[in-house]
Amino acid sequence: MLSSPATPDSLQNPSPDGLPAESLSQSLSMSRASWQRPVSAWQQPGPAAFDFRSDVTTTATPRLLQAVMSAGLNDGWTGNGAKKFEEYMAQLVGTESAVFMVSSTMGNQVAIRTHLNRPPNGVICDARSHIMHMETGGLASLSGALPIAIYPSNGVYLTLEDIERYVVLSDGTDACNCPTRLLHLENPLGGNIMPLHEMKRIKEFADCHGLKIHVDGARLWEAVVAQHGSLRDFASGAHSVNLCLSKGLGVPMGSIVVGDAEFIRHARWVRKSMGGAMRQPGIMANCAWAAVEEAFGQSASGDESLLSRGHELARDLANHWAALDGKLVVPQETNVIWLDLDALKIDEDEWESQAKAEGILLHSSRILTHYQLSDEAVAQLKGYMQRSLEGAKEREGYVPRAKPRNDAVSRVAAAMKEAMMLARLRNAAL
Ligand SMILES: *Cc1c(COP(=O)(O)O)cnc(C)c1O
Repeated sequence: MLSSPATPDSLQNPSPDGLPAESLSQSLSMSRASWQRPVSAWQQPGPAAFDFRSDVTTTATPRLLQAVMSAGLNDGWTGNGAKKFEEYMAQLVGTESAVFMVSSTMGNQVAIRTHLNRPPNGVICDARSHIMHMETGGLASLSGALPIAIYPSNGVYLTLEDIERYVVLSDGTDACNCPTRLLHLENPLGGNIMPLHEMKRIKEFADCHGLKIHVDGARLWEAVVAQHGSLRDFASGAHSVNLCLSKGLGVPMGSIVVGDAEFIRHARWVRKSMGGAMRQPGIMANCAWAAVEEAFGQSASGDESLLSRGHELARDLANHWAALDGKLVVPQETNVIWLDLDALKIDEDEWESQAKAEGILLHSSRILTHYQLSDEAVAQLKGYMQRSLEGAKEREGYVPRAKPRNDAVSRVAAAMKEAMMLARLRNAAL
């Protein structure tokens, strides 16, 4: 008997798969009328249908919720919950082992802490990366590490040459330096992909010098769907990879970290120390598993993935913007577009508030597409782009902000522009 009436309406409707009859308890069906709505939050259009702010707005589908209903309970109290999902993911990514995490922030921080067990620790990362802008400085506070945050010289992704320029290799004779221990590579970063061949070059270099590579592959699924290589290909260029489950896959929370067995064993310790061990993770792991199968798809190479809709929409919107003489900061490659609003004398506050008045949600100059967007929202955004660009042409006296607005996405947007500007300066100087 179910004691809580908090079951989503969509699950109360007879589904093709059919729920166990006993899930509709007497008391439940009696109180149902009070909370049943004609259209459930899990039927189309979903809450993310008009939301271009982030793919985190995607929500669990009925199939994911079914998976939650069929989860085994009390699977995690021994500290080894979500085991089957972890095994599935290790196999999919081609590593020995995997561990389920509460979030990608935790996944990154646990992985970094696991790699860095003896200071001094230097970490090279991209100046635009999530760990620099959106993880509360955990690299410093949790791992006591020194970040060397660099801009890619090509303006888009770090290369081996960028890393070689800043890496601190040490044989221990210099007691002043902070040796680089870890290369933290975010891929994709801002929707742009670090190609496999570059990752392989960096991995060879790292192996040669005893450095570790952690890949923040929160959206690595997208690189696979864009046909840049399989999860296995990308994972073979790293010692650990974090994959986010709560971005475009629509899972409410979670991430998975993969690596070799020894690494994951230690990561479980660190996860526990940070409060990330869960009692009944099977509920979320089951949901995530269903999402990997439903949204990413059954094929390791990402063929026929639902995520490809996000890429099609982004391409369509980027082409539309370009056809209207709009500029992009970086090329569109996956499900992210960075508009150059300054070039069009459009302020981001105004851009957002006007869009909201027209029924679509935007955040900063970044547009993030996902498979749960409605066609109507895309048409609306296209019209909005056109009207904004026409208005902007007549505008006079626009002064761009001297510094980025005080939110993380705006800061990253500014860093994306900075990287491109430095790349142009470098090229001009060569
Ligand atoms: C979203 C994101 C994270 C953090 O994910 P949470 O689950 O929200 O903590 C980490 N890295 C990248 C690249 C991300 O996009």
